[in-house]
Amino acid sequence: MTENESGQIQILRAKQFTCAQIASETGLPVNTVKSYLRRHPVDAQSVCLQCGKPVIQTPHRKEKKFCSDRCRIRWWNEHPERIMHRSVCRKTCLYCGAEFVAHRNENQKYCSRKCYNRARKPAA
Ligand SMILES: [Zn+2]
Ligand SMILES: [Zn+2]
Repeated sequence: MTENESGQIQILRAKQFTCAQIASETGLPVNTVKSYLRRHPVDAQSVCLQCGKPVIQTPHRKEKKFCSDRCRIRWWNEHPERIMHRSVCRKTCLYCGAEFVAHRNENQKYCSRKCYNRARKPAA
């Protein structure tokens, strides 16, 4: 079986196709499809949260929720409130007192480069 064929089986399985339907769709013998699925169980829940297309999971990897980066980015744009569940670090700028989210660096003390520079070089 080629990688292409096994990929197709997973996609069709994720779409809730039966073994017989997958076999006729891919042109593979039903028994081949059955034994493949026995060895590679496909989680029918694995569909893209954004577009609903099946998502192929990589075994032993973190579960993927999106079929592509494009869908992931679009989904996060449309659900900004969900980002709060991630471990982001809320901080208060030492210079202007504004609240900001430290994304990259937990030691970040200022909301912006501007405040950072101002704090270091106070205006005369
Ligand atoms: Zn998608
Ligand atoms: Zn600031």
